Amino acid sequence: MKRIKYIALHVKKYLTGFLHLVYPKICLHCGNTDITKFHVLCPYCYAQLPFTDFFEIENNNIDKIFWGRMPLGPSGAALFFTKNSIVQLLLFELKYK
Ligand SMILES: [Zn+2]
Repeated sequence: MKRIKYIALHVKKYLTGFLHLVYPKICLHCGNTDITKFHVLCPYCYAQLPFTDFFEIENNNIDKIFWGRMPLGPSGAALFFTKNSIVQLLLFELKYK
């Protein structure tokens, strides 16, 4: 039984390596291969994301936009958007690819 697990682990390792050749999992921003299975950015690029922390601030700027226009519960934006930033790249990838 141990031998089967050993062989299965190696087969999985080789298949993963082959899949990486065809469909490389690289950071969308810098091309680094140090990313985990479900992430699209490497830890370095993720650390550079401009988080707003609006969800922790009551009556934040996003809430104020909707005051008097429509009833809305707590709201916020996760990231600040600026042109030519990682956030713009992520939105482009999400929207068009
Ligand atoms: Zn990166």
